[in-house]
Amino acid sequence: MTDTDGHLAAVHERLRNACRRAGRNPEDVGLIAVSKRQTVAAIRDAYAAGQRAFGENYLQEGLDKQQALAELAISWHFVGPLQSNKTKAAAEHFDWVHTVDRLKIAQRLAQHRHASATDAPLDCCIQVNLSGETSKSGATAAELPELAHAVARLPGLRLRGLMTLPEPADNEADQRAPFAELRRLLEELRSEGLALDTLSMGMSADLEAAILEGATLVRIGTAVFGPRD
Ligand SMILES: *Cc1c(COP(=O)(O)O)cnc(C)c1O
Repeated sequence: MTDTDGHLAAVHERLRNACRRAGRNPEDVGLIAVSKRQTVAAIRDAYAAGQRAFGENYLQEGLDKQQALAELAISWHFVGPLQSNKTKAAAEHFDWVHTVDRLKIAQRLAQHRHASATDAPLDCCIQVNLSGETSKSGATAAELPELAHAVARLPGLRLRGLMTLPEPADNEADQRAPFAELRRLLEELRSEGLALDTLSMGMSADLEAAILEGATLVRIGTAVFGPRD
């Protein structure tokens, strides 16, 4: 048994317990192992323990790892900030992009995906910057409806839902507040006719709060791999 086996088992246990509290089916919550600044060997260990979805924040680091792990059937999720000049590589080499935050980025991803050898559309989420966040990334709640409808119309992309990365909070009530807000925004878009099924929210410190508020994909780094250097 490697450390990763034990860590992954502990994360699955937390996911199961949170789903029990929430009255949800654990099969409805996907685990993305966020492997930024972790080694290729650590990813192999997690893969050997059954993990299939991995998230990367830095494009070049992600591409290097994909090349080193090309024989593994991994689903790669891009979860970092995305600049225009990186959209081609992201569209060609990742299965999901969680951090679409403006139309120009979405249009470039769509163009490059369309021109690539891949038949499948690129699954994506719009990153939402909820009130109180200091980060510059993410569309505001006010920008969201127009952006979401425009992204949903782009061929080559499949808009799946919303993602957020709130400021850390140390108690569950405060952790839940932004997740509840994201869920409300998703439900609003659905009521406007968009077929969305994904809430990408929850990390090592707040996955329980995210699951209680309806997360369908949690993005877990340190609880799976241990601390990053
Ligand atoms: C690093 C990162 C994570 C994982 O964070 P942990 O606290 O290590 O679980 C999740 N999502 C994004 C966007 C990240 O950058």
